[in-house]
Amino acid sequence: MDTLSRRHLLAAAAAGTVATAATAAQAASFGNPDRPPQGAVNTLDNPASATDPGPQNPALAAQFPGAFSPPATDVGDMPLFWASFNNAPRRIQNGGWARQVTQADFAISETIAGVNMRLTRGGIREMHWHQQAEWAYVSKGACRITTIDTSGRANVEDVGEGGLWYFPAGLPHSLQGIGEDGTEFILCFDDGKATEYNTLMLTEWMAHTPPDVLALNFGLPAETFARIPLDDLYIFQGRMPGPLAADQAQAAGAAGRMPQSSVFNLTGMEPTRRTRGGEVRIVDSRNFPAATTIAAALVTVHPGGMREMHWHPNADEWQYYIAGAAEMTVFNTGPKAVTQNFKPGDIGYVKKSLGHYVRNTGTTDLVFLEVFRAPEFQDVSLSDWLAHTPRAMVAQHLNVDEATIARFPSDKPAVVPE
Ligand code: MN
Ligand code: MN
Repeated sequence: MDTLSRRHLLAAAAAGTVATAATAAQAASFGNPDRPPQGAVNTLDNPASATDPGPQNPALAAQFPGAFSPPATDVGDMPLFWASFNNAPRRIQNGGWARQVTQADFAISETIAGVNMRLTRGGIREMHWHQQAEWAYVSKGACRITTIDTSGRANVEDVGEGGLWYFPAGLPHSLQGIGEDGTEFILCFDDGKATEYNTLMLTEWMAHTPPDVLALNFGLPAETFARIPLDDLYIFQGRMPGPLAADQAQAAGAAGRMPQSSVFNLTGMEPTRRTRGGEVRIVDSRNFPAATTIAAALVTVHPGGMREMHWHPNADEWQYYIAGAAEMTVFNTGPKAVTQNFKPGDIGYVKKSLGHYVRNTGTTDLVFLEVFRAPEFQDVSLSDWLAHTPRAMVAQHLNVDEATIARFPSDKPAVVPE
């Protein structure tokens, strides 16, 4: 990459580190550094403009250099597109915990509500259902899921680290930690307003049904239900389940298994795209047919690399940061360009069709999930667009000669190297 880019010059000027006559002259050749009129680049002769007399919380502020000292090209503001599980209250019970970030906490997140849950070995998330579909990614350990469809066909399946599950809206299910140290996962409801604490639970319906109705319903004496819990269990410590094959056979009975698997081994698949910069694994209804309403990409960006400039024409993007350190800039009309920083456990959100890129700002691999409420993953690459438009057309927009435009990536790299 050309190190003499306008971005670098502006960034250097903003930092006040190389505000020499030479760089000023070079900057002039790349346009007017006083545009936009916002940004530290405009305060070089008046440094107090950018200081922060306080109050301060340096530990927290240090997590957000992109917000505190935005790139010189940033302009305007946007609804906050950063949230985190790290400061979400944990509902801790014997057997595990849950925490969530819904649209009530994160206004921009219209399409997805996120939940982070941990279950001990044997820990159970009570049998339940809800009005939204549920898609999940196992970040640690392993989990056994159970579910049925409307024909009574049953899936009992184990999901390891890097695996997914999907339950359509309204179909009942249970979760149980089965790893050596149980499991941890994030799950996404395909509605930002959904909440993990508002699900229809087995124990609650039973407790709030007259015993004679239970007797009638199950064809057994009312005394059968004398010891049912009066309060919900939600998460509780259970016994480890038996062998998978035996559980599957018993649950299926004569009805058999569901026609499609409810689980998918995402990290086990070959990357959809691999470059020197990293790799991307795309999972949607084309390779995980059960997942009719959620598409996703698991992205790995090597140090110095970047998830390329792009946008998604079909859905908002909900991001979950798994490893490393990231900086994302989002572009909207206005113009508006806003930068934020992300660490493991953080959540990002980009509205449909807004331009964005995600840089690895750390020294280790950046790993994150892009999740969409859509049957298929779709994105448009900026470089792909420019490479597949007549070069004369592009040249006249950018004042870059056609021979140079011919060197733009023309193969939609997804992740570009340092
Ligand atoms: Mn659920
Ligand atoms: Mn994206």
